[in-house]
Amino acid sequence: MNYIVLDLEWNQCPYGKEMENKELPFEIIEIGAMKLDSKKQCVGKFTRLIKPVVYKEFHSYTQNMLSLTMKDLKNGESFVKVMKDFLEWCGEEYIFCTWGSTDLIELQRNMKFHGLEPLAQGPFKFYDVQKVFSLVFEEDVKARRSLEYAVDYLNILKTATFHRAGEDAMYTMQVMQKMSYSDMERYYSIDTFQRPKNRKSEVYAIFEKYSKYISKEFSSKEEAMADREVASTRCYLCGKPARKKIRWFSGNGRMYFCQAYCENHGFLKGKIRMKKVSEGTFYVIKTLKLVSKEEALEIKQKQEEVRKKRREKRKNQTP
Ligand SMILES: [Zn+2]
Repeated sequence: MNYIVLDLEWNQCPYGKEMENKELPFEIIEIGAMKLDSKKQCVGKFTRLIKPVVYKEFHSYTQNMLSLTMKDLKNGESFVKVMKDFLEWCGEEYIFCTWGSTDLIELQRNMKFHGLEPLAQGPFKFYDVQKVFSLVFEEDVKARRSLEYAVDYLNILKTATFHRAGEDAMYTMQVMQKMSYSDMERYYSIDTFQRPKNRKSEVYAIFEKYSKYISKEFSSKEEAMADREVASTRCYLCGKPARKKIRWFSGNGRMYFCQAYCENHGFLKGKIRMKKVSEGTFYVIKTLKLVSKEEALEIKQKQEEVRKKRREKRKNQTP
């Protein structure tokens, strides 16, 4: 297995969002990657500049951040050629490791724009080094630190500037070398650029403290929430259906919550994120987590708040 530590630089429309190409809001201009073996030894390096075809001037943000000129990029190669070389370089069996989850999304969006075959047929596993860093070193679930913060935190020698793909990939690799592969595996991530196409390719993942389910696509929120698999609350420790104490409810139609009780393991908190793909296409990401009685009570309070707001809204509507 090869561990491919990937970093990308991209440009965006210099004339603002209204003028951008909706199919390609971020155009990749540089790919940098490091290859690690199973002992975390660096066994390869890949850095290439890409000649842009959509945005031929820099957005001010890109310009200020990158130490690159358009003249540099004009000497770059086509995205298709670079990707072909890159995927060949990755090898037969590999897993991506990135700082945050956006690089893989933009990589796949650029591949789609250029008519390349998708990286995978459905969701795939990767390591988000940024997320793992916070969990391992700061025991923080929500923090998302900058790469430079992590480099400083771990006393890694700063030998190059940040915000160039090759250098950022190298720093990400060095941060990763301070972690164990079992830590990475414990907190792995799932890329969902390609959603599950059908029931069979839906994702069920069990982590230490929660379970995650990624559904196939539905044509409405209502259809998704009416689906038995989506609504189910199986305990991820014993696999038994946990009885719902509070049915799925939502305040804003984007997040849904529920509370269930497993006879063997206690209270479960259910959370569904409703993801809109396009008009008439939705899928859900459901997480179930065993929680204390106090945390379970918070769900009850949340439900009451939602009900109260709804009542007030109704009252205000009546003339
Ligand atoms: Zn259980």
